[in-house]
Parts: sequence; C-alpha cells; structure tokens
Amino acid sequence: MDIFEQRIKELREQINRLNHEYYVLNAPTVSDQEFDALLRELQDLEQTYPQYDDPLSPTRRVGSDLAEGFQQVEHERRMMSLSNSYSIDEVRDFLRRAHDGLGGAPMTIVGEMKYDGTSISITYEDGRLVRAVTRGDGVRGDDVTANVKTIRSVPLQLAPGNWPKRFEVRGEILLPWASFEKINEERAFNEEPLFANPRNAAAGTLKLLNSAEVARRGLDAYFYFVLADHLPCATHYDNMCAVASWGFKTAHMELLDDIDSVEDFVKHWDVERKNLPVATDGLVFKLNDMRQWEALGATAKSPRWAIAYKFAPERELTRLRSISFEVGRTGVITPVANLDPVLLSGTTVKRASMHNEDFVRTMDIHDGDMVYVEKGGEIIPKIVGVDKAQRQPESQPVTFVSHCPVCGTPLRRIEGEAAWVCPNADGCKPQVVGRVEHFVGRKAMNIDGVGHEVAIALHDYCGVTTPADLYDLTAEKLEVMPSFKEKSIQNLLNGIAASRDVPFERVLFAISIPQVGENTAKLLARNLHDIDHLMTTPAEELSAIPEIGPKIAQEIVDFFADEHNREHVERLRAAGLQMALSDEQMAARTTILEGKKIVISGVFAHHSRDEYKEMIELNGGKNVGSISKATSFILAGENMGPAKLEKAQKLGIPILNEDEFLAMLNTE
Ligand code: AMP
Ligand code: ZN
Repeated sequence: MDIFEQRIKELREQINRLNHEYYVLNAPTVSDQEFDALLRELQDLEQTYPQYDDPLSPTRRVGSDLAEGFQQVEHERRMMSLSNSYSIDEVRDFLRRAHDGLGGAPMTIVGEMKYDGTSISITYEDGRLVRAVTRGDGVRGDDVTANVKTIRSVPLQLAPGNWPKRFEVRGEILLPWASFEKINEERAFNEEPLFANPRNAAAGTLKLLNSAEVARRGLDAYFYFVLADHLPCATHYDNMCAVASWGFKTAHMELLDDIDSVEDFVKHWDVERKNLPVATDGLVFKLNDMRQWEALGATAKSPRWAIAYKFAPERELTRLRSISFEVGRTGVITPVANLDPVLLSGTTVKRASMHNEDFVRTMDIHDGDMVYVEKGGEIIPKIVGVDKAQRQPESQPVTFVSHCPVCGTPLRRIEGEAAWVCPNADGCKPQVVGRVEHFVGRKAMNIDGVGHEVAIALHDYCGVTTPADLYDLTAEKLEVMPSFKEKSIQNLLNGIAASRDVPFERVLFAISIPQVGENTAKLLARNLHDIDHLMTTPAEELSAIPEIGPKIAQEIVDFFADEHNREHVERLRAAGLQMALSDEQMAARTTILEGKKIVISGVFAHHSRDEYKEMIELNGGKNVGSISKATSFILAGENMGPAKLEKAQKLGIPILNEDEFLAMLNTE
C-alpha cells in the first residue's frame, strides 16, 4: 500500500467516525471547518488517484445527478406489518394471548417509539452496505440504495465489531420536523404542492430519481430490527444495543416487566413524544426474548410477538388571540387566527387558517374563544371546533374587515365565491410584491436568490413594482440594497439574464394572468404558439380549446384588455423574453395523442415522470391524475399501485409500458 492509498484509507475511517459522532451520537468532536478540510483532502486525493476509488467512500454521500429508475428486488425475509391497538386494554389482551401461547412462561417487554416514516431494509456484507430496499408489498420492494447512501446517519462501512458477516437491519427513514418545515417553505415559495406530513415527505423523497436532491433534503434513519443467520445475542434489546455499537442510530427502547410499566411508558411518551425531533404515531411493544418470537410465530400479516399502540390524533385547545387578514398575490383576503402558542405534533403552533368568511360564520367563532386546533392531513393547522362552555358572556362574533388591511381600498366580494378581494392590484404592496415573487419562482422564471425578503427589498429600495422592472436592474442600482453584497448582486443579475431563455409557456405562467396556472399556460402555449396570437384571440375561440372553460377565457381576454398589462408584456418582450414557442418546440409538436387522456403511474427507467408529462403534452395528449372510464390508456412504469391496476383492469383500460409508449410516439 503506497502512502496515498494509506492516507485515503485513514481519511475515510476518520470521516466515517466523525460522521457517526455528528449524525448518530449528536456529539461532534471537531469543528465544521476541520471536518470540511478533511473531506476536501479526501476528495482531492480521490480525484488524483482514481485507482483507489470506492463507491462507499464518505465523499459519495452527496449523491449523483444521474437519474436511474428503481429496480424491484425480492426481500430475503418478508417484511411484515404490525397489528394495531388503540388502548391499554388492547395491549393487555395482546400480552395475555402471548403469555398463554407461551404456556405461561415469564416475559420481558421492550417498549419503543413507533416512528412515522417509511420502512427500509438494509443489507450489510463484510461490514459494507450492499443494498437498501423499501418495504414495497412486503415480498418485493424498490432498490433505493443510491438514495439511502446519502443519509448521513446510515453507516456505509462499519468499524470492526461483532457484526455478522451478512446481516439485515430494518428501520424507518424519516424527515425530521425541522427539515420537513424547511422543504415545505421552499415548496410554498415555488408554488409546488406541499407535503401533508413528514411521512409522505420521507417516502416521496426516497423515491426521487435524483440522489443529489435527496442528499439536500436531510433525511434521517432509526433502526429497530436486526436479522441474520447468527446474531450476537438472544434478546432483541441486547441485539439492538449491539447494532447501536456498530454505528447505527437505533430506536429509543426501554425494558418493561409488566403491564403497569407498559401503562406508565404509554402515559409518559404520549406527552414526551411531542419534544422529539421526528414524528411518531405511536409506540411498539415487542417481546424481548427472541426464542419466544419463534415459539409464537406470525399470522398471515403480522407477528404474534409484537404490537403497535397508536396515539389518538393530536388536537389541542387554545385561545384565539386575534385575527389577521392577509392579502395574497391575487388580492384575495384570508383570515388567519393568531393563537396562544401550543405544541402540536412536534411544532409550536401560533397561527391557523380560517379559510374565509363563510367558515368563520359557520363555526360561529367569537373573539377570544377557546378553539380546538388540529394538524390533520394538511400541513397548515386548522381550527376544528370551539369550546362554547368557556366563552366569555360579553364576547362578540368575529367581524370581517370591509377594507383592505394594507392599502385601505374597499373590498369586493367575487360573485358566487366566499372570497373577498382587494381590487387595487397595482397599488397594494402584497399584491405587487407577490407578483414579482411569483414571477421569479422555480416553476416560473426560476430566478434564484429572490425570496420574500429580497422581493420586498427590491420593491422598497430599487422600485421594482413589476417583473419587467427586474430587467432594468444594474449592479449599481442594487448596491443600495441592505446587506446585499457583490456576490448576491452578481447571482441575481446572472439569474435575470438566464431567464431570457426560459420557454414561452413558463413566461405565460409567470405573468400572473388570473386563473392561468402552470397547466393552463402550457395548453395556451401549445395551442396558440405566441403571445400576439393569444392577445388577439376572442373568448369564444379560447374556450374552444379543450380544458379552457368560458370563465378562464374571459379572464384572459380581460387581462389583455387592460392597457397596463399590455404595456407590461411589451416591456418584457423588449427585455428579450421568449414570447413564442421555440422552433424546436414547434417541431416536436404532433397530434399523435390528440384527445387522449393518459394516466401516468409507477417509476420509470428511461425518462422522468415530468419528461413523460411533457411528451404527452407536446404530442397533443392530456395527462390526467386518476383512472376513470374516460381514460385512454395508462403509461405504467415499475411498481404501479395495486389499487390502480385493479381499477384499470376492471374498466378495461389498456396499460402501456414505457417502451410501448415511446414506440407509439415514433410511429408517424
Ligand atoms: P403500520 O404501517 O401502521 O402497519 O405499522 C407498522 C410499521 O411501523 C412497520 O412496518 C414499520 O415501518 C413502522 N415502525 C416504526 N417504528 C417501529 C418500531 N420501533 N418497530 C417496528 N416497526 C416500527
Ligand atoms: Zn389592498
């Protein structure tokens, strides 16, 4: 071994150890700078001496941009689910059955957290991670090794220990609350659909094809099973302690001797779990002695030696302090409840949505009421009830504002809708700034570096009141922005320059035509090809385009009838933005899929889902979300959901795989 190979080996061991201290033990022993320096040294050496490459090197944690589909693989040992219980009595019954099944032998119980993420099975051979597979249907799952390797707390290469030559660990992949909230903030900013809860977010993240994006999102993993032909110990607890000593983050465990201690454990964690950094939806009780696992066996679905205890959904009572009325980009006024802070599923909640005036009336909410808040499927907490018994006798029903809280303009109620709107589109700051924010968003012009704060500063210091103003910015003008340094200025100017190449359909989406979302913008671009055509097409003709209703058609006509908007479009055109489909886009258009409604399902190998969506649209078809009688066919990748499959078969809808689909597009 030469000195470079020796140094590479040392560095890898040292970095693996530091990663473990940082991500598993939460006890770093070096500064971030020292760590980065070591990592950089290793990266340099690996680049200079590629002959010592190792796919499990800690430098590979950053993931790759290569999109690969997921392969389905069979589990060596089936992954079962757990039977559920919802009360301490049911846990008691479970213990009694186990006790009887074991002929009255003494039992020790291990109490654990039930982490609410997505389950994973990881196999190690000779101390090296060889593959990671999702639960799938329990028999086969998706090989997500590339993504799991990006999770810093999952060891890639174990330090020497008493681990079996080949073993499997099972656990839960989680997105900690903090990362979850950060991602949703970003998604909200980019107008992408929000994740309802950390479980969906973790599962969605694990199935991303781009492992660099996975690495960025900050997943974590907690392990709760180990399986091998020969395990070091005879009890679950001891084996999991061994697993922890090999470098894994393990589930919190406690040994419990009887039903009373089980009950105490439930009481304690029902409250205490709210302080954990990750989501839990219950507790798990397992018998400790693994010989008893063998003796009791399993039913078709779940083992007889373990049970899950589910917590009741979280709901808290708190006081409504006041109501704020917020103005959105489109001028719609949303009432938001300001609450006495309460802890709800791991986060402090101070605000809750009240939707609109009708909601407030129907719930009969009064000022200062004690209200119930819940975090359900949605991420924004909502008010689900009022405790009228605690209402102060003199309290008044909540009143709605009649004027815009920001600019003072009298509000208008949109006909047939519950929403109130501030009509002062060009003079009301949240609307003005909101349109600029929308314009720069990832799905629109994708100009990096303009968040909410920067958009406000651009408005206040540089007079940016329309997106077109962005194209008049110069480094000099930007210098007045507080704490906006040379680098930020250059990034922003580069982003603005690059946006000139953003395709026409995204420009159409970016300019905030009421009711015109991402999909409508695409439809309009594909059917009308350029902005002049769009501006001069009468409403009847617009609504002849499939999917464009008379209401949207009228909004579009009204938008372009407004001189302000036409001037704005001209300024953007003069700035060099794409105002027509490119020649390439025009050439790629066909009518092969004209009138076809196509459902995309599963995971693909050749192209990403988004690419398939775009192909469908460019060829005249329409991508729809759910299967119905009207569906023309399903474009199915690997792992199409069983419910979808059954529905498709029942309705007799053809299923095409990607090769068949691609062949179809090439036959004309
Ligand atoms: P369910 O999906 O509700 O049937 O619950 C079973 C699932 O709980 C398992 O498949 C695991 O993914 C998950 N789980 C979370 N924490 C634990 C734990 N400590 N022990 C076993 N399973 C757990
Ligand atoms: Zn206003």
